[in-house]
Amino acid sequence: MLAPVYDIPSLADLRARQPKQQPRYEDAAELERALAALSSRPPLVFAGEVDDLRDGLARVARGEGFLLQGGDCAETFAGVTAANLKNKLRVLLAMSLVLTYAAQVPVLKVGRIAGQYAKPRSKDTETRVIDGQEVTLPSFRGDAVNGFEFTAEARRNDPQRLLDVYNASSATLNLTRAFVSGGFADLRTVNTWNSDFVRNANGAGERYQALVEEIEAALAFMVACGIDDEQMHTVDFYSSHEALLLDYEHALTRIDSRSQLPYGTSGHFLWIGERTRELDGAHVELLRHVQNPLGIKLGPTATAEDAIGLADRLDPDGTPGRITFITRMGAGRIRDVLPDVVEGVRATGREVVWVTDPMHGNTYTSSTGYKTRSFADVVDEVNGWFDVHDRLGTWPGGIHVELTGEDVTECVGGTHDLAEADLAHRYETACDPRLNRNQSLELAFMVAERLRT
Ligand code: PEP
Ligand code: MN
Repeated sequence: MLAPVYDIPSLADLRARQPKQQPRYEDAAELERALAALSSRPPLVFAGEVDDLRDGLARVARGEGFLLQGGDCAETFAGVTAANLKNKLRVLLAMSLVLTYAAQVPVLKVGRIAGQYAKPRSKDTETRVIDGQEVTLPSFRGDAVNGFEFTAEARRNDPQRLLDVYNASSATLNLTRAFVSGGFADLRTVNTWNSDFVRNANGAGERYQALVEEIEAALAFMVACGIDDEQMHTVDFYSSHEALLLDYEHALTRIDSRSQLPYGTSGHFLWIGERTRELDGAHVELLRHVQNPLGIKLGPTATAEDAIGLADRLDPDGTPGRITFITRMGAGRIRDVLPDVVEGVRATGREVVWVTDPMHGNTYTSSTGYKTRSFADVVDEVNGWFDVHDRLGTWPGGIHVELTGEDVTECVGGTHDLAEADLAHRYETACDPRLNRNQSLELAFMVAERLRT
């Protein structure tokens, strides 16, 4: 028998499970002081919002909506600026507009935002050749843990950074809430969201402009008819991140005063990564106690038994909207691996959200030495994912992408046909390569096309 889930497991219990991917700190007392400070901070998100998102995801699971989840692989503290955040939000809103208008489905918008500061790494150390000498330092684990700069000082794990994550997330959420409810997301201003982009772009930009003109005509018609709904002036937007650092997540797990139930208050939607999802592991143990909707990443080796075991452990009651499976199997594997997993879960009678992450199974190193992804592979995985769900009659519920609002050059291909030789031009990611604005919009059009047919 598993313990009841209305309490919060102790940090000692979680640590005793020897969780993977956790930073070790030199000074244990310094860590405890940082966690004590974090524990006294107010929650970043509120139980009612979390419940609303879970209800929205329940609708997606029933085929009555589509989830758009996107943002940086790794947010950075330096990236907490109004300009950066605004650019990211407007590309997500534009993608959502394309999906809503072209495919006529309500879109649930969730950012990889306001908390995505910690990264699992496949190697503990990184080696570079500097002045002819091999230098080995600890890997960068995200701004939540250490610094990106390749120096011993920067790469030292610093517990103060956990408080910095809280502050950066808080500032990001504050601006996001203001943007989405304070007129920035008003449909009557859609033509300004991407105006500079549309002026400079071709391909996706021109299609976007044509769509905006159609929407403006439709809105003018509605206004002339006297329809002016509140829904057109604001949007719901939620935060999400990988719940990787147990110290941090535990300090922000709180009992909701209304319901007396535990909630993860570091973000609305929390997911468990491909590397930390073992059934008896500490990540599953903490998250099975909270009420938040949960994502579970499933890579190319995942089986139906893995998926069912995780769903049973994390959601014994089959709560609608609780479980989202985010498959990231790679363009070459998705068509072979996904069908058994989906059929196995379906046979249990569970209604889950099926989401495609077409990024993480398609990463490679370019001939020029950059970690990259090809836009064609991303599109191929999305198509393979749609093919499988179409064949099985299950609802393709959403897409999870790494993207940025900036015109970076990190993934090859797309309308501008970015080549490997172009990657050096603006390669700015702190971790995995992201789709730029044009590639993101192009992907939204492609997804809308598949949803419509
Ligand atoms: C990520 O989403 O950045 C990530 C590390 O994913 P995964 O756990 O699927 O490898
Ligand atoms: Mn990533």
